[in-house]
Parts: sequence; C-alpha cells; structure tokens
Amino acid sequence: MDNYFAKEIDWLLGRSEPPATCLEIWKWWEQRRLFYNVLVLCCISLSFCAYNFVRLGLYNEEFWYEPLTFMFLFTVGTLIWNLAYTAGMLVDLIFFRLIKKWFGQKLYQSGLAFSLSVLFLPTILLFGFKFCPKAHAEDFNRVFNLMAKSKYSAALNVLQKDHLNLNGEGEYLEGYCLMRLHQMSEAKPHFLKSIQLGYAPYSQWTPTREFLDRIDRFEQIRPVRQPNACIEIYAANSNWTNPILKELPRFAERAKYIFGNVPKITFYILAKRKDFSTLYRDMFQNSAEERWWNNGTGVSNVVVFSERDKDGKWSLFPGTARAYGDVLHEYGHALCDTIYGDNYLDHVPEWLNEGMADAIARPYYGELFIDADNLLRRYAQKNKPPEYEVLCHGLYRSPDVGYAFGRLMVEQLLAGDVRRIAAIVSNSRVAQDFEAGIKSATGKSGKDAYNAVVKKYWPSAQRWQMKSSVQSPCFFFNPKFLENY
Ligand SMILES: [Zn+2]
Repeated sequence: MDNYFAKEIDWLLGRSEPPATCLEIWKWWEQRRLFYNVLVLCCISLSFCAYNFVRLGLYNEEFWYEPLTFMFLFTVGTLIWNLAYTAGMLVDLIFFRLIKKWFGQKLYQSGLAFSLSVLFLPTILLFGFKFCPKAHAEDFNRVFNLMAKSKYSAALNVLQKDHLNLNGEGEYLEGYCLMRLHQMSEAKPHFLKSIQLGYAPYSQWTPTREFLDRIDRFEQIRPVRQPNACIEIYAANSNWTNPILKELPRFAERAKYIFGNVPKITFYILAKRKDFSTLYRDMFQNSAEERWWNNGTGVSNVVVFSERDKDGKWSLFPGTARAYGDVLHEYGHALCDTIYGDNYLDHVPEWLNEGMADAIARPYYGELFIDADNLLRRYAQKNKPPEYEVLCHGLYRSPDVGYAFGRLMVEQLLAGDVRRIAAIVSNSRVAQDFEAGIKSATGKSGKDAYNAVVKKYWPSAQRWQMKSSVQSPCFFFNPKFLENY
C-alpha cells in the first residue's frame, strides 16, 4: 500500500521513465496538467485563508475586497498558470528537438515549486512584516495608545509613594504618565528635574527634550485661565468665548443633575485654528484634520475647541443655541470618557457615544432632534436602514444618518429620564461591556432601541429585512461568520 502511494506521488512529481518521442513528451505533460491545476487551486485557497487570518490578527479589520481577489485568482489566475505550463512544455519540446536531451522533469519540478512560492508569497511577506522591526514599532505604538488611563494613575501613585520619582528615570516616567493623562503643564517640572539629574531615556523612548518642546508650544498658545468651579477653563476673552463662559454654570448644573458627582474637566478654547491643530497634535499625538468636521473634541479629562474651522470661518456661530449645544456635547463626551475610565472609546458603541452626548446637550438641541426626524423620514424613502453593526463601529462613514440614529436610539433608552445616562455608563463600567450596561440600566438592549427606530421610519420593514439578510456570496470568507466559531 505504502509502496503504491509512493509510486503515485513519484509519478505526480514527474519522477518517471523519460519519454522517448515528441508525442510522448506532450502526453507526459498533459497527463499531469490536471494534478497541477488541482494543486494550484488548493494552494490558492490555503494561502488566501492563511493571509486573511494573519491580517485579521494583525489589524482586526474588514477585508471585503479579498473575496474578489480570490475569484480573480481562480479564473484569470488559472488561465495564466496554464499558459505558463504550456510554455514549459514547449521549451521542453524545443530542446528535445534541438539537442536530443530531455529537461522535462527539471522544468516541471521547478515550475511547480515556483508557482507555489508565488502563491504563498503574500502570506509569507505578511508574516515577515509582523516580525520585522518597523512593524514591531508600529505595534508598540498601538499598545501605547491602548495603555490604560488607570495604569498611568496607578503608576503615578507608585512613583510618588515609593519615592521612585526622586531619581531621573522616575521623574521622566512621572512626566510621561501626566502627559498621557493630558496634564501637560504638571508634567513639565518632572521632565526638567529629570534632565537636571542627568537622566537620558532609552533610545526607543521619546526624548525628554521632545516632551518639553511640546509642553512649551502648549503653554505659549494656552489662553488665560478663567476661574470656575467644576469646569476649569482656559479661554481668551472674545466674542466667541464670552457667551460660552456665561453659559458654563448651566453646563455644570446639567452635568451635576445627570451624574451627581462630576470629575473636573479642563476646557481649552483656542482662538486660532493653527493653535488648535498644534495643541491637538501635542496632546493627542494625532491630527485634528483627520475628520474634516472636527472643530472640537471631548475626551478623558479635557475638552478642546477651536473658534475657527479649517477654512478660517467661525466653527460655530457665537451666542446661538447650536453653539452652546456643540460645546456641551463635547463636554458630555469628556464626562462619559472620564467616568467610564480605561478604553472608553474602544468599548463604547459609536451610536451610544454620540447619542448620549446629544442627549446631554438636549436643552440646546431641540432643533437638531426635529432635524433628525425629518432626515430619517426622507432617508427612509430611498434607502434601507443602516445595519446595527455599522452604527456600532462604522457610524462616521455616513455621519448624518448615523448621528440621527444614535440620537433617536438613545432617546428610546432614556424614556424621558436623562439621568439614565449615568446608570448606563457606570453599569457598563462595572461589566466592562456596554450591551450589558445598557440592559441593566434601562431594561432594553441596544438592538431593541434600534428596532424601535427602524420600525418607526421603515414601517413596511419586511421588504428591507429581506434585502439586508442577503449574505456575502462567499459566506465562508465573511470574517463575521468566522468570528462566531
Ligand atoms: Zn460627538
């Protein structure tokens, strides 16, 4: 039996009696063409799966275009390989006629090896990429960005308690933790001390000088501090900021009404767009221009706002309800993020994040809620509803519809009591899971809220459900499908 298989394999790999005539050579090649094709197609499938698994592990991203690549390889690719196979046979025949020597076996075997290595090349390169130093640095950066706020706070405590901060490296680390907590001015004396103590950080760490430059820029553009109770605010006196400064006590009242105890949030309102971009980059280490509509943001501990949009116009029209609402919206984000703590933005479904911020800003957003209603009515006439998953992780792809959905879904969950936001955030924090937090705080699930909105605007929803249940034609290669197993 073993012997039989060994013989078969030898035959398939071209280890057989050499053919004696041109006709026999032609037959020799054609007998193996089917095997060659089967092997290539198996390897395409295998390489495709391996490639996507590695990619999923590396970037955790969708790859909708990959099945198309796969189809392409299966059709056009197969044609090309068969042409190459035929070329191999022709070369063999030509040499046989010219010098009466048979190279078929070598040609066939090296062709086989070459085809297979080409097919596995993308996967091998991707594996290599994962372990090459540059990719390593990128991964490291990603981990850095994910590193939890609570760890920096805990690290600060340890440094101070054990007096580790008295040495140069400790001073540097203390400064570093404060930078990550967006407390840039507080970080400065620690970096200065660390230089004074003669400490130079490891080459792969950010140089102390670079941090100090970032802090210097920040301090130069930071406006004057305006005294206030639970909101600390840095803003220049201007026609744009003064109305907002007057409104701040109401923001604070709203925050206390919803959350009870509120953490201190620091506002930076910048008059010049250039300063906003600089501060944004120095504080968050990414660009404010990544999202074109970004004129302000609210994250852990801070709200940053620009008076001007990227074209130099007013980012919000000063003294209007909409302007107050937008600042309060960002303050809402900052409160949720700070209260939830670690990895808020990674955990929170996007519709909930935006919907809660809108609900917090609701006293100024009456018009916006009417707009949402109109927009969805119009949208529903020509489109099917966005899928729930898209609202969770792809809302910013079509922000208008996404925000409108989030606003109305959160309205469903709150059922008239905005203080439920505090319960949603704190329950989710305990469970480290927003779906569980929503359920325990409101008795409803996110999906319930979604279905209620869909039912309202798409009353004859069956038509759409039929359409949206059409799966990717190649279901096995749908990553969502794989995730369930
Ligand atoms: Zn927002």
